[in-house]
Amino acid sequence: GKIDKMSGEVVDSNPYSRLMALQRMGIVKDYEAIRNKTVAVVGMGGVGSVAAEMLTRCGIGSLLMYDYDKVELANMNRLFFRPEQCGMTKTDAAAQTLSGINPDVALESYTMNITTLEGFDAFKASLTKEGGSSRVDLVLSCVDNYEARMTINQVCLELNQTWMESGVSEDAVSGHIQVVAPGDTACFACVPPLVVASGIDERTLKREGVCAASLPTTMGIIAGLLVQNTLKYLLGFGQVTQYLGYSSLKDFFPTMQIKPNTGCDNAMCRRRQAEWAAREPQRAVAAAAA
Ligand code: ATP
Repeated sequence: GKIDKMSGEVVDSNPYSRLMALQRMGIVKDYEAIRNKTVAVVGMGGVGSVAAEMLTRCGIGSLLMYDYDKVELANMNRLFFRPEQCGMTKTDAAAQTLSGINPDVALESYTMNITTLEGFDAFKASLTKEGGSSRVDLVLSCVDNYEARMTINQVCLELNQTWMESGVSEDAVSGHIQVVAPGDTACFACVPPLVVASGIDERTLKREGVCAASLPTTMGIIAGLLVQNTLKYLLGFGQVTQYLGYSSLKDFFPTMQIKPNTGCDNAMCRRRQAEWAAREPQRAVAAAAA
């Protein structure tokens, strides 16, 4: 902000002018476009709640939040939630804090399990506008289990909606983000994820009461990488990374491209791949014109 020469005080206290500077400095063409964007955050835990706060502070238009859980004291080693919010649903507690930070964001809280039969339908309906297409610009997966990721994968394939997956390892020292664009990139069923590949049943792990480690640092970093990629995707600047890993022990950040599996088990994925291939000539023309 501007400094008053006499008093030395900051007179320009509008946080939005700092964001608009991204436009003046040529990083972003139209920053204000963010006010018309809608993002769904599924899972308001250690990564999702921080991602939601970042989007709120960036001035996102609408935020849809999903979680079935309540705030517990055991969550206090993560960022965002406060002890006095214990017992509240995570979505209500988040709405309380986020509306206080930026009242201009349209918040929708959905306290629900997305993996049950009714949950699946309600989740899909909340993302769908009249006519059947998606009403959001992006879905962020911040859940901690395979079933919930497969549900997001299925709903997004059906709606032809791009989403970003995120995850932090059980030992809390590494994580990743991954863009899933139906037909264009691998869907979540195309390539078996590590938990499945290594034969670990995470439901068994949970039932035996094995407590996964967690660090606010790793979760905050993954949330930051996720929202940075989100801003690039929504506002069209820089390069949107398809897969970005983070390994804290060696400060290693691998990136990669994961092509869809033509033999994917998911029929909707195979259909999206065929549609994507059919649009190939049009894309080539557009790329040549650009
Ligand atoms: P921990 O598992 O370590 O005790 P956590 O459950 O808060 O902590 P996080 O990784 O921090 O785990 O966050 C994941 C979030 O995703 C949780 O808040 C959880 O309630 C939510 N979540 C997981 N599965 C679903 C689902 N099927 N429907 C809605 N929310 C879900």
